[in-house]
Amino acid sequence: MLNPAIDTLRKLVAFDTVSARDNLPLIHWAANYLQAEGLRVEVQEGDEPGKANLLASIGPIDQPGLLLSGHSDTVPVAGEVWTSDPFTLTERNGNLYGRGSADMKGFIACCMTMAREFKRGGLKTPLHIAMSYNEETNMHGMKVLARHLDSLAIKPLGCVIGEPTTMQVVVANKGAAIWRVQVRGKGVHSSLRDQGVSAVEIAAEVIVFINALQRKLNEAERHDGFEYPFTSVHVGKIQGGTAHNITAVDCEFVFEVRALPGVRAALIAQQVRDYCTQVLLPPMRTVSAECDIRVDEIVDAPGLDERQNIHLSQRIMPLCGCLAPSRVSFGTEAGMLQDVGVPTVVCGPGQIRVAHQPDEFVEIEQLSRCLDFLQSLDAQLRLAPMQL
Ligand SMILES: [Zn+2]
Repeated sequence: MLNPAIDTLRKLVAFDTVSARDNLPLIHWAANYLQAEGLRVEVQEGDEPGKANLLASIGPIDQPGLLLSGHSDTVPVAGEVWTSDPFTLTERNGNLYGRGSADMKGFIACCMTMAREFKRGGLKTPLHIAMSYNEETNMHGMKVLARHLDSLAIKPLGCVIGEPTTMQVVVANKGAAIWRVQVRGKGVHSSLRDQGVSAVEIAAEVIVFINALQRKLNEAERHDGFEYPFTSVHVGKIQGGTAHNITAVDCEFVFEVRALPGVRAALIAQQVRDYCTQVLLPPMRTVSAECDIRVDEIVDAPGLDERQNIHLSQRIMPLCGCLAPSRVSFGTEAGMLQDVGVPTVVCGPGQIRVAHQPDEFVEIEQLSRCLDFLQSLDAQLRLAPMQL
């Protein structure tokens, strides 16, 4: 199984599926591959041109199945210096280098290669393989997929998302949410500053408000399973203004919320929005009707709550040799699936610390452990219809 999995990974890495590009060529290739192996395959059109999800199924249609899910997109390579071409899988010292090798085409390659095994017949619990798009940007692929799964008469009974965790079972992750704040002021010569509105100064007030929110959050809910045990808010990027002597017409910044599982980031963003519209905007509008503050969601993926996947993690841990579950602070699609009633854990080959880096790699040994896990899972799914 190992060599075919490496060949499949080589093919997957060769598709440049950086999130800004189409993922359709990869999805069509994978759909043909899985169809040829005898799986039932659906290609689900995305919410923007050139993007699609894939959902493939094996086994009985009248039973809830187990879903293996991975995102098909990767982060960009622009500006990075690589030892070898990022889209040509290259082996050095037992590692396979290439963009997406760890995050997370290695897992997808293992699942695709195992399709033939799963198909051998006799699965009592069906198995599904899903591939999503735009995980690295707005998670719209999983939004579309989760909505689809939610509409099914028989939903999957559980899901494993193969983000790189060195094959350890992750039962909780913080949410990943980003909002863009755009302030429109009024530009005048700064010697007449009371006739203008500086968008930069207004943005600064919003940021001060967000910092104050962080202090409040540090006194609220706490979860010691995370390195930073609170919900965090953070302003990471800002741009605005024209010159030192012109009140700034525009200023824009983004802030993120990494919410503890169970905490809704949207409620935190709503406090920011209320502060803007109720406190800051009215005096701006008395200077000029053109003034405005927009607070727009870029992505809002909920955290993964371990209170909802206990039975699934107990099933999966022995199959991948994981002794104790762990928690991570990076966002995944898992919480979106749990939101539609599909318990989900995260477990896949490779290390998160090499993801999103030049010379990203996955260890061959990790792929081999992933295949072992899938083989144990295959054996388990043959025993009896799985119940959680
Ligand atoms: Zn990933």
